[in-house]
Amino acid sequence: MKTIKDVNFKGKKVLVRVDFNVPFDSQKRITDDTRIREALPTINKLTKDGAKVILMAHLGRPKKGGFEPDLTLKPVADYLSKKINQEVVFTQSLLGDEVTKLCNNLKDGQVMLLENIRFYPEETKGDENFAKQLSLLGDAYVNDAFGACHREHASTATIAKYFPNDKYFGLLMENEIVNLTKLMTNPSKPFTAVIGGSKISTKIDVLKNLLNIVDNLIIGGGMTYTFRKAQGQKIGDSICEDDKMDVALELLHLAKQKNVNVYLPEDRVIADDFSNNANIQRTKIDEIPNGWQGMDIGEKTIKLYSDVVLKSKTILWNGPMGVFEMENFAKGTNAIAKAVADATEHNGAFSAIGGGDSVAAIDQSGYADKISYISTGGGAMLEYLEGKTLPGIKAIMD
Ligand code: ADP
Ligand code: MG
Repeated sequence: MKTIKDVNFKGKKVLVRVDFNVPFDSQKRITDDTRIREALPTINKLTKDGAKVILMAHLGRPKKGGFEPDLTLKPVADYLSKKINQEVVFTQSLLGDEVTKLCNNLKDGQVMLLENIRFYPEETKGDENFAKQLSLLGDAYVNDAFGACHREHASTATIAKYFPNDKYFGLLMENEIVNLTKLMTNPSKPFTAVIGGSKISTKIDVLKNLLNIVDNLIIGGGMTYTFRKAQGQKIGDSICEDDKMDVALELLHLAKQKNVNVYLPEDRVIADDFSNNANIQRTKIDEIPNGWQGMDIGEKTIKLYSDVVLKSKTILWNGPMGVFEMENFAKGTNAIAKAVADATEHNGAFSAIGGGDSVAAIDQSGYADKISYISTGGGAMLEYLEGKTLPGIKAIMD
């Protein structure tokens, strides 16, 4: 693997694609700096080498094809300079004599951040000429933006071809690739995947691909109701995708063919409203009355799922077991978090968690530091699990 670890970049202008797509509050304060913190090892390694670090990043989804004051990366530059204890040079444009001059004037160990790259529509089109112009700013290219590497954009993929001998993975990317490879290539058995979340439609391809590799597939969350309705059960007002019921049955059939044990909830916590203040019942039976909806897995299911997880040597978890954002329906998700943490800590299992909401759930549960690997890329990790080749990874490997 071509990683920055093995190279000294002293005096080199290094163009680094990072994922700084952080959330802000109304006062323009960063509410979650995880993505910035995760890029620090790579930035610090390069500045320590004495490289001139030129960072490229995007923020949000600019629509206008030009500068949008709400989506400027200036607050990120200010924030980053505090984190690395040095000034971060910020440029308002990406191309042109002014930027070239600023790049050439950087001193060894200095850091610069280019304005939101998606202010240029060429970025998301993967435009070759735009990528080539960008490439002229640096002597080497580093991709450390795992969260964006499933996109075939100019700064995440196209640009790599202009650095045939000087393109590298950053430390964050390297860590993601090492762990994902460990997960999907020769995992220790038994391998259990726990897949939840609201909708089956967003996870069909993940489920299909996982059936080729896992021993156990545990299903939770809102998507279970599509499976259960397809099997003829009454699900009341639970979330359901009627047009995906045939896919659900096909997946169950496929699992049988491939000898994968599939686990679906046997009891559940139901509510008469989609609200933390709703009336609650615990049903042992498979019938949810009209006016009620399934919000979490029940006690019996928690026990069943935890037992399977605790017997596993490899565990992948994506998608909460219930509406974990509401305290009254977070119990199932927290219990599975505990089981995954225990299997890792006490049984030596390798555990991996990914997905925006799943990462929020494991953080909320307090077990995050027990997990072997927590992915930084929601969409990117899911596409990897679907068996797809991610353009940002391929571009460096080629
Ligand atoms: P991730 O972001 O980790 O991939 P998803 O986006 O697929 O996860 O799913 C997370 C969402 O699923 C959460 O917002 C959660 O509230 C919702 N969810 C889980 N169980 C249910 C349910 N029974 N009914 C409705 N929504 C649910
Ligand atoms: Mg989500």
